[in-house]
Amino acid sequence: MRQKRLELIRKKLLSMRETRLQEIRRQNTDAAALIDEGVADIADQGLTDSLKEYLHLLGDAGREEVREIDAALERLRDGSYGTCESCGKAIDLARLEILPFTRQCLKCRKIAEKEESIKSGPAKGQL
Ligand SMILES: [Zn+2]
Repeated sequence: MRQKRLELIRKKLLSMRETRLQEIRRQNTDAAALIDEGVADIADQGLTDSLKEYLHLLGDAGREEVREIDAALERLRDGSYGTCESCGKAIDLARLEILPFTRQCLKCRKIAEKEESIKSGPAKGQL
């Protein structure tokens, strides 16, 4: 049963990976087209630069996610998949089905989020 669910997760990861890669390719094409079409005519160089910068950031986020997906696929191959990297316990399969490239169980994720919010100052409502 577990094996079957893991196989479904693997397929999901592969299709997410493909979708992300397509998005990255499309963004790159869009950026090139916009710049070629000379949105730039209007324009000062500043606008083109900001646009490039913006698309670059979008691409980075996508590439980061592809890296996470690749790492998850690697863990599936070596058998370490589904183990929380903070506490070493098994991550709930239901959680993995929703967030297949997560590295932490829900409990550790919540602790990590709490620490992040402490670092970045008190969040709204905690004052
Ligand atoms: Zn954990």
